[in-house]
Amino acid sequence: MNKTIFQKIIDREIPARILYEDESLIAIEDINPVAPVHALIIPKKCIETLNDLNPADADIVGKMILVARNLAKELKIDQSGYRTVFNCNSDGGQTVSHIHLHLVGGRKMNWPPG
Ligand code: AMP
Repeated sequence: MNKTIFQKIIDREIPARILYEDESLIAIEDINPVAPVHALIIPKKCIETLNDLNPADADIVGKMILVARNLAKELKIDQSGYRTVFNCNSDGGQTVSHIHLHLVGGRKMNWPPG
């Protein structure tokens, strides 16, 4: 399988603004932000879509949400509020086949999403 853009960022083949990193995941600024705060929390293990998760991935998915929570506090959107989103496949708007959690905030969000 060809490396995803996120795998290339993890492997330092292309640059990114890194907000957090540990042994199992990385968080970066989105290159095309849709709000004043737009971060992506990405596991280092490449899982293509949410459909490909298996029970052994429960820890990493839980950790992604905790990192999003921590970043929201660091970036001072925890009290105003924020949105976390996993897009899945075409109708979900997924463009990169390597699961990632969007953390979006700093402005009022609409519901339902477009
Ligand atoms: P999705 O559409 O849910 O797959 O989200 C992919 C996200 O990755 C989009 O919000 C893009 O703006 C973002 N993105 C694509 N390439 C890069 C990159 N090189 N650095 C940071 N974010 C990126």
